[in-house]
Order: sequence, then C-alpha cells, then structure tokens
Amino acid sequence: MVETATAKAAKAQHYSFFQGVERNFDKAAGFTRFEKGILEQIKACNSVYQMKFPVRIGDKIEVVEAYRVQHSHHKLPCKGGIRYSMDVNQDEVMALAALMTYKCAIVNVPFGGAKGGIRINPKNYTTFELEKITRRYASELVKKNFIGPGIDVPAPDYGTGAREMSWIADTYASLKPGEIDALGCVTGKPVTQGGVRGRTEATGLGVFYGVRELCNVAEDMKRLGLSTGIEGKKVVVQGLGNVGYHAAKFFYEGGAIIVGLAEYEGGIYNEKGLDLEKVVAHRKATGSILDFPGATNIANSLETLEQECDILIPAALENVINASNAARIKAKIIGEGANGPLTPEADEILLQKGAIIVPDMYLNAGGVTVSYFEWLKNLSHVRFGRMDKRFSENQNTNILQTVESLTGKRVTDIERRQIMHGPDEVDLVYSGLEDTMIGSYHEIREAMLSLNMTDMRTAAFTVAINKVGVSYEELGIFP
Ligand code: NAD
Repeated sequence: MVETATAKAAKAQHYSFFQGVERNFDKAAGFTRFEKGILEQIKACNSVYQMKFPVRIGDKIEVVEAYRVQHSHHKLPCKGGIRYSMDVNQDEVMALAALMTYKCAIVNVPFGGAKGGIRINPKNYTTFELEKITRRYASELVKKNFIGPGIDVPAPDYGTGAREMSWIADTYASLKPGEIDALGCVTGKPVTQGGVRGRTEATGLGVFYGVRELCNVAEDMKRLGLSTGIEGKKVVVQGLGNVGYHAAKFFYEGGAIIVGLAEYEGGIYNEKGLDLEKVVAHRKATGSILDFPGATNIANSLETLEQECDILIPAALENVINASNAARIKAKIIGEGANGPLTPEADEILLQKGAIIVPDMYLNAGGVTVSYFEWLKNLSHVRFGRMDKRFSENQNTNILQTVESLTGKRVTDIERRQIMHGPDEVDLVYSGLEDTMIGSYHEIREAMLSLNMTDMRTAAFTVAINKVGVSYEELGIFP
C-alpha cells in the first residue's frame, strides 16, 4: 500500500527503494555539471537514527522500532513526514527522506529532506496507546537532537495526522520549557495549536495550480492539440480522498468539467460533467459513488482512467498506470496527485504517445509548501494578515472613495466588498502557494526546453540537483 512505483520497480529489479531513488538521481545527474564528489554528497543520507524503545501496552511491554532519517543538511531545518506502518524499514525511510530533499528544492522550500517512521499498525492500538507511542518517539527525537524548529521539523504522513502532530508539539514544548519557538518543531498541527489555515486542502490546490499553469502555456497546448486555459477541459480524477477531492473541487471551481471519478468501489463517467458536491453527498448517502444520476457506472474502477478526457489526475494509489493499461490512457495531460502512480514503463509509453506527465515530486508539493508557511507563522508568532489586513482595507477604501468622487460614479456593493477586502490568513496562504507552483513550473519547463527533453520528471530532478549542488558548492567543506 505504501510502496511507490520506484519502490516496486526497485524490488522487481533486485535493488532497494533507496537504490532506486539513486538510479533516478544518476539519470538526471548526467545533465548537470557537478563533480562526482558533490553528486555523491547530495545523494548520501547525512544522518540515520534507528531507535527501539519500550512502551507498556496493557499489562505487557512492547519494544517499538522507529526511525528518523535526515537526508540532507544543505539547508536547515530538515523536513519530512512521519508514517505509522508495518512496512516501515530503514531503506524506505532513507528513500523517502531523499525524495523530500528533491521535492523541497523543486518548490524552493528552504529545508533539507527528512522522513520518520514507526513500525506499527496504528489500527491495533487505542488512542491512549498511540499517544504513549507518539510521545515516547518524540522524546527519543529530543534526546538525540533530532527535532526542533531549527533542526528537524516533522509533519503528518501515512497513519498520522493533526492529532499526532499536536502530541509531538506538546511533548517537545514540555521537554524544552521556555523555548519560545517550540511550536515550530512540527507542522500539520490543528489551527488551534499553531497550524495554518489552508493546510488541509494545500496538496489538492497545488495540483490544480500546477496543471492550470501548464494549460496556460499556449505553445504547449498547441502541441497537445488543446485550447489554452483550464476552462472547459475534461478531467478524470482517481481517488476522492484528501488530494483527489480537493484537486477535483478546485478544477470544478476553475471551470474545468469533471467527467469521471474513480473510487475503490468503481467509477462513474458523464461526458457532460459531474457535480462534485452532489457526487460526494450521493456517496455519503448510499456508501458508493456508483449509480449517480445521469452517470454511467464503470464496474472496474481502473477503467475509469481510460475514458475520454484531456486531463487525468491519479490521486489515490501508486502504480495504477503501468505497462498493462498505459497504452489505453487517452488523456494528454497526466498530473500525478498521488506519489508514484505511474510505473517507469507507463512513463515511457505515455511519453512516446506525446502526453505531458507532470511529476509527483513537483505537483503534490503543495503540502510541504504550506507546511513551510506554518513554520514561518510559528516563528513569527502572529497569524498571517493580522498586522496588515485592516490597513489594506482602509487604504482600499480611501482609493475607492477618491476614484468615486473623481468620476462621480459608484461601484456596486459586491464590487465594493471585493475591492475593499484585505487579506486573511487563508488568502495569503493560497497566494503564496499559487506563486510557488507557478514559479516552479516554469523553472522545470525551462530546464526541459534547455536540455531538449520531453520528460518533465527528469527535468524536475535536474532542477533539484542543481539547487542542492550549488548550495553544497557555496557552503564549502568544513574541515
Ligand atoms: P486519502 O487516504 O485521503 O485518499 C485516498 C483515496 O483513494 C480514498 O478516498 C480511497 O478510498 C481512494 N482509493 C483507495 N483505493 C482506491 C482504488 N483502488 N481506486 C480508486 N480510489 C481508491 O489519501 P491522500 O492523502 O489523498 O493521498 C493520496 C495520494 O497522494 C498518496 O499517494 C499520497 O502519498 C499522496 N500525497 C498526499 C499528500 C497529502 O497532503 N495528503 C501530499 C503529497 C502526496
């Protein structure tokens, strides 16, 4: 379940997940100018902490295995999620930490990559037991200096969420009394505990901003035989979870037509479009997206991905587009909302068909981008917009009054509200995310053009290696 395409491909080829990441790295490194030593340093995991600690569960003591890996210290703090899964092992955590380094570099989030994991099945424990395990893990990280707002800042991943992040923040703060920036030791917290508005929908919104930007480039749309802009584009989304639901919602609101949706129970398709919120309400009422009025049922959920559409957003699982179905995919744009939804074979088949694949490492980086904003908020100890919202509103009012008195005309009430509105926290988070996704898209596109390649994944990797490489070169080597 938690294996990515790279992980599966690696296993099939008898190399580890981390070695698989290294192979992708090597492929892209050939397009950069760095000497071997720098490339070796970028690739290496800087610190690996494997721990075992006892936790009393009922009347027994359980020894829990856990990890925290800091892949790169070229920027500090390090950043990366913590997952709870029985699949957690050192190689996997190392690979995921490395991918975080490259993801952060691509979206210009100034962190080194990290990842953590506890080898448990969270479903086997009560909330009370999970809290004990989480707090013990956090205190182990504190003991070895593996957590802190300037050291290493975890976030949620598989099996963890805002609740676990709150427990970690509280454990850290109680072990570091008086540390003013303590809340910045972890992100993905509830808004009431120092979290930031907009974090929940951030990844799906980032997916939308990234694909919208691609659609805004007339030259690329012409090559695909599509019109410019997101409006009217036909979209199929797989997965109605956090990423898929929010991506679909923003595509819908942005004027795209959601023609197909796939969940584990099956898929639905209507070429005239589906009303997303009505589908969600239907699923809530009936327990399934199937039999939605006006839509055709697709019994084999995976076949939904093969339906006629312009944009396909796999946002559920890894490896869903592979050698067996890639040739039947009709979408000209594939936006990887999930991690690793395409196998390397699928990549090749679709690239040969002339499709544009927007890689996960860039497209689903909205979550870490907004985590960065949360960390900034924690360090500044003030909600975004608190200092300037009212000032902006007063200034807008003055400008509006001046324009109205000079022209002798009055704007409508709706226009007045829009013009006067000063930015709330969520407005600023959205705008920061939008700017990030647009800027990074063009960095990758320019790299692709200058290297004369059509593979956006390798181009994104190259962009990341270049940024981390320059950092290491400029830092020099400490004696
Ligand atoms: P989620 O659990 O909220 O949603 C996954 C959805 O996929 C669920 O609705 C589930 O029912 C559905 N699903 C399961 N099996 C399916 C199948 N066979 N066919 C169709 N749908 C199926 O998870 P999420 O947080 O949305 O994550 C989805 C993907 O995005 C994962 O690969 C994750 O690693 C990646 N991702 C998530 C985030 C984030 O911020 N949540 C960030 C980066 C990457």
